Amino acid sequence: MPFDFQGKHVTVAGLGVSGVPAAKVLHGLGARVTVVNDGDDERARAQAADLEALGVTVRLGDGATLPEGTELIVTAPGWKPDKPLFTAAHEAGVPVWGDVELAWRLRGRDGREAAPWLAVTGTNGKTTTVQMLASILKAAGLRTAAVGNIGVSLLDAVTGDEEYDVLAVELSSYQLHWAPSLRAHSAVVLNLAPDHLDWHGSMEAYAADKGRIYEGNQVACVYNAADKATEDLVREADVEEGCRAVGFTLGSPAPSQLGVVDGILVDRAFVEDRQKNAQELAEVSDVDPPAPHNIANALAAAGLARAFGVSAAAVRDGLRAFTPDAHRIAHVADVDGVAYVDDSKATNTHAAEASLAAYESIVWIAGGLAKGATFDELVTGAAKRLRGAVLIGADRALIREALARHAPEVPVVDLDRTDTGAMLQAVREAQRLARPGDTVLLAPACASMDMFTNYNKRGDAFAEAVRELGA
Ligand code: ADP
Repeated sequence: MPFDFQGKHVTVAGLGVSGVPAAKVLHGLGARVTVVNDGDDERARAQAADLEALGVTVRLGDGATLPEGTELIVTAPGWKPDKPLFTAAHEAGVPVWGDVELAWRLRGRDGREAAPWLAVTGTNGKTTTVQMLASILKAAGLRTAAVGNIGVSLLDAVTGDEEYDVLAVELSSYQLHWAPSLRAHSAVVLNLAPDHLDWHGSMEAYAADKGRIYEGNQVACVYNAADKATEDLVREADVEEGCRAVGFTLGSPAPSQLGVVDGILVDRAFVEDRQKNAQELAEVSDVDPPAPHNIANALAAAGLARAFGVSAAAVRDGLRAFTPDAHRIAHVADVDGVAYVDDSKATNTHAAEASLAAYESIVWIAGGLAKGATFDELVTGAAKRLRGAVLIGADRALIREALARHAPEVPVVDLDRTDTGAMLQAVREAQRLARPGDTVLLAPACASMDMFTNYNKRGDAFAEAVRELGA
């Protein structure tokens, strides 16, 4: 039975990217909608005016009090679970849904077939994997889209006019926290490293929220064989009868795994007699970029596609057709035999670790806002591949100290400036340190907001600086 919103008092918590469309959709379904929002700035007022014109009530400057008569809260995923609004809801027995739960509940309205979801989460690699997956599904002739943080919004995908056979869905840990009834066809947790712990409260709570993605899976729970925590989550999940645990590995695959043999991506899970057989899917060189972590992403995407019954040829064609988004290990240029690579999206140490592992000899440009991270492990792992390091941004001292502790022989340039010319100087210093055959890698392991509007702008500044070198 679809949920009946007619006449229901629904409180939408938070204006913004998910709140405004949610309020509109709920209003359209006959709900009596009140939006509550902490902020009361100009932007919020403009959004409020827009919604009020439709007949939605908006309360600005007070996101803490539960409006009288609320029967359901639909929250922006970023709202922390310990907010007073949720405590009040809990005490009053009012359910709380996130944007994903709302989208899940709205599937299959108007007598339409509800497209199954192939769901992807993990600390890093979500967007890339979801895009690879969508590319593979398209190559198989399926009507699909990459949805979530990218491309089409989930709400649009389930309520819009476009019809889909299957959706490739990116889910964050916040979204999963607020999605109690989500049941994916198949799902993957790519990896698990500490992130957003201030929001979740602990690593256990973060892992538990990620693990929700496996709840009720029908065909396959895909996990990372190199990351035991992901396998543990599969073991703990309550899945449909017959749903399988399928691992991916960069090594040779055991039965029920996908892996790599002699430069070939192979499937030993979705084949007949997997004790004896394996199916060739694609070549490592079909994956762009063919860095180890990205091969892992490709295997995860292939695992979900194969769980959905997609052919090996479509996996290959889909991977070949895929091009990564900007600022994700993007090769900017070669200058004097040195490659310049922009991985500005490596905003945490786990991501930077993956990109540092992808090159032999690196001049590393790093730094920014550390968000409470420590760098000892990252530096220890990368030390032998570092030709040098150029440090920028507010928390660069943390990286400098880790380098002094674990890689004292690596030359370090510490840039004490945050103006717009800083990136150009960083790239020039990196050029000075680099030898032909090296890679100058922007993989900051930090957020960008101390110096740039966002990681895109940081990557753009890097690319522009590289172009000036070559000019
Ligand atoms: P997300 O959507 O999870 O943020 P992206 O696909 O946008 O992930 O990739 C973000 C960054 O994470 C990339 O720039 C790369 O540095 C790193 N990365 C991508 N895939 C992986 C992976 N499987 N393991 C570790 N790091 C990864």
